[in-house]
Parts: sequence; structure tokens; C-alpha cells
Amino acid sequence: MQQNTEPLIFERSSPGRRGHSLPACDVPALPTESVLPAHWQRDALPLPEVSELDVVRHFTRLSQRNYSIEHDFYPLGSCTMKYNPKVNDVAAGLPGFSFIHPHQPESTIQGALALIHGLSRLIMAITGYANCSLQPAAGAHGELCGVLMIRAHHVKQGNPRRKMIIPDSAHGTNPATAAMCGYTAIEVPSSERGTVDLDALAVLLDEDVAGLMLTVPNTLGLFEQDIVEICRMAHAVGALVYCDGANMNALLGTVQPAALGLDVLHLNLHKTFTTPHGGGGPGAGAICVNETLEPYLPVPLVKEADGVYAWDEDRPDSIGRIHSFYGNFLNQVRAYTYIRTLGAEGIKRAGDYAVLNANYLKEKLRGAYALRYDRTCMHEVVFAGLKEKAEGVRTLDVAKRMIDYGFHPSTVYFPLIVPEALMIEPTETENKDTLDTFIDALLAIAEEAQTAPELLKDAPVSAPVRRLDETSAARRPNLRWQPPRQL
Ligand SMILES: *Cc1c(COP(=O)(O)O)cnc(C)c1O
Repeated sequence: MQQNTEPLIFERSSPGRRGHSLPACDVPALPTESVLPAHWQRDALPLPEVSELDVVRHFTRLSQRNYSIEHDFYPLGSCTMKYNPKVNDVAAGLPGFSFIHPHQPESTIQGALALIHGLSRLIMAITGYANCSLQPAAGAHGELCGVLMIRAHHVKQGNPRRKMIIPDSAHGTNPATAAMCGYTAIEVPSSERGTVDLDALAVLLDEDVAGLMLTVPNTLGLFEQDIVEICRMAHAVGALVYCDGANMNALLGTVQPAALGLDVLHLNLHKTFTTPHGGGGPGAGAICVNETLEPYLPVPLVKEADGVYAWDEDRPDSIGRIHSFYGNFLNQVRAYTYIRTLGAEGIKRAGDYAVLNANYLKEKLRGAYALRYDRTCMHEVVFAGLKEKAEGVRTLDVAKRMIDYGFHPSTVYFPLIVPEALMIEPTETENKDTLDTFIDALLAIAEEAQTAPELLKDAPVSAPVRRLDETSAARRPNLRWQPPRQL
């Protein structure tokens, strides 16, 4: 085996690495047989032999079959598929950020610590909370962190409590989180307005309730108009209120969730504050708390004194560490860049446009698609399928037909309480031309449902793959390598 004596990784010395390059490793390699007994050695794997050109073509072809926000409109409700400005990736790619190692001494990562500290301060200003941690790696992870803090609070009070109340419109991660934290999830129904039924809530609230998990605006895209009263009712029995703020676009610069009485909130930095996340890429789930829960935040936080930043581990009531090191740091760089690029005014405009765009779609499509809750919506609009039902045509068919019109399908069959749900979130980054083209497509599809329903049932006809058996694809995935093949 050839010994590489070049210090490959570290030759890109930069201010972030303070010009250091590590000495080359000149220890000669031992023959494998002398360190690894034969019965531990692997046989040669039957890996395919392909040329570099074949590999490049294979992956280029695959990438072209994929659909992303950079191809066209991606109206996936509850996912906030907004455009990710390239400057975010330029910032995240700076060697001073991307080449640091989590075990470096604090004195050598002052810039990174300053960014974490600065982003926390920006998020606190946007949300109104007393403190926050950027450690959770995703929205669901933020929920876990937040509910663990609620539990720590009740345990500290000497009454652990057993129940977590969650609306029937909630994202599935909410009851899953409650269960993972040892709580029994209790469902509270939605009223005819699509928000929490206050009478039903009053019946459920007692001293065994640890908290409520609410989404504001909720998953129907509606603002919870009774939120202040709901928080008051919960606090009256000693329960705390968790806010799922995965999609906070609508409130940006207009409402601080802390001011509504919500005790703890998670944000999906990878939704509201950009970062590519289609296909399950890395996320970041900032968790924000008021004074009641502040002592329980995960360690470490970043503290600052006289312009010097340091990890703060000395927090005796902390729930501990919930991620190795400090979460997905480069996503934090992207979120910081995004917020600083827009500024306070731009952040508010983003929120305003997210709401305006969703309502524009709602008004233009209401003639063809049914509205279960006919109210002004926030960042997204949920239709209950086609207004004029067509024989055998379902929302799934409408979604599949969107592909033939060049659009990513919208979210369907969620929230569960809306029959034939079609959930559209335009985000603020789409212009009117794009929205109008999409509206024309959806109106044409509604027309086709009446005149030529087979076009919907056979859709998509233009995609590399037609309809998949999604259950089998998930349960029995065929992950074998196959030679590249031209379609
Ligand atoms: C996306 C989303 C989540 C989960 O976030 P992940 O980052 O996918 O874990 C939770 N709640 C709501 C309302 C969401 O839209």
C-alpha cells in the first residue's frame, strides 16, 4: 500500500485555521496480515467496476430526474419549500466554518461561537423568548427537547404529571414526542372553525396534565384565535404550553409567540429560515423557552463576556446534552446568513408575502376546490379536494396530475381531519407569474376531472416513473445496485 505523505486535508490553510497545517504522517503502514488475523479479514466484495465517466453520467441522470425547488414551484404544504439563496451556501462553505473540528479549543473557534451566540440573539428577538438552544437536529428533535424540559419542570415541582393534550389536527411528530417522553397523548377535537374546541379543552384540563402541544398557526393554516385564553386555561392548572413552530413564516416580524403565553417553541431553521431539505437533508430545530423553562435548556450554551465566547456547561438543572457537539452547525450558518441578509424589515416582508401568496391561491382556486374551513389563512391553505366530485377521482389523482403540468405535487391527506385534503404552501419566494401558472394548471386539472377523468387516473404520464406502489416501496425497498440504463 502506498503511503501518502501529503497533508491533504489541511493544505487549505485559511484565517479560520490560522495558517496552521498539520505535520505529515510518516509512520509506515504495517502489512495487513500482521495486525488483522485472517479470519477477521473480509473477502473482496463483488463491487461493480465502472469508469468515472459512467459514474458521472449515472448520477447526473439521476439528478435530472429529481425535482427540486430549483426546477419549479414546490407547493408541499407544511414543508416550507422556499428558495435557498446561494449566499447561504457561500457562507456555510467558508473554510473557517466548514473545516473546524468540534474538539478544537474555544480560543480557535471564536467566530463559530460568535455566530451561534448571534443567531440565538436574532431568534430571541424574532420570537420574544428569554433564551434558546440551537442543538436539536430537526423539528421532531426540538419537540423532544422541549417536552423533556416540560417534564424536568414538573419533576422539579414534585409532581411529574402523566398527560399531554394534543389537537386532532396536529403533525404526527407531536403525539410521538409525547409518547417518547412517557406521556399519554390525549386528543382534543377541533371546532367548526378549525381551531381548538375550548369547551372540550376545559373538560380535559386537570392537574395531571403536564402540557399542551399546539401548532400556531395550526396545520390547517389557521391562526389559533383563542391562543391567549388557551394558555391562560393551561397555566391555571399548572400545565405548560408547547408551540410547534416548524412553519413560522406567517408570524415573522408580526407576532412574537412568547407574547401569546406559549412557554416553549421550536423552529425548523430548515423550513422558515431556509436550508435545502427536500429528501431528508440535515435539519436544525432551534428550541426557545421563557424564564420558567430556561434552567432546563440542554448544555452547552454559548456565553459571552468582554467579547470572548465560551461554552457554558455550568447549568445544574439542564436536561443534559441532546446532540453530539452542537447540532448541525452549518445549517445554523445558513439561517444566520438568511436573517442577516433580509434584516428586520425583510423578515417581516417575508412573513407578509407568505400569507398574501397563500390567500391569493385560496381565492383563485376556491371555485374549483372545496374549502373545509372558509377563513383567511396564514402561510398555507388546505382544500378538501375537488369542489365538484368526479366519479372515482381522488385528491391523490389531482396530485399526480400536477406532475404532468410540471409541478411537484402538494401535500395530500394531511391534516387527517380534512377529507381528501390538498395542502398548498406557496411560501414568499414565488412570484405572481409562477402562482398564476400553477393556478391555471389546477383549474385545468379540475376541468379534466369532469371531462376526461382518465387523464388524472393515469397520471403521471410524463415522469420517469409512473405510479409507485408506495406501501411496498417503503416496506420492501429494492436497494440493489443496477447498471445505469438509458430510459
Ligand atoms: C416539518 C414539521 C415537523 C417535523 O420537523 P422535522 O424537521 O421533519 O423533524 C413538525 N411539525 C410540523 C408542523 C412540521 O411541519
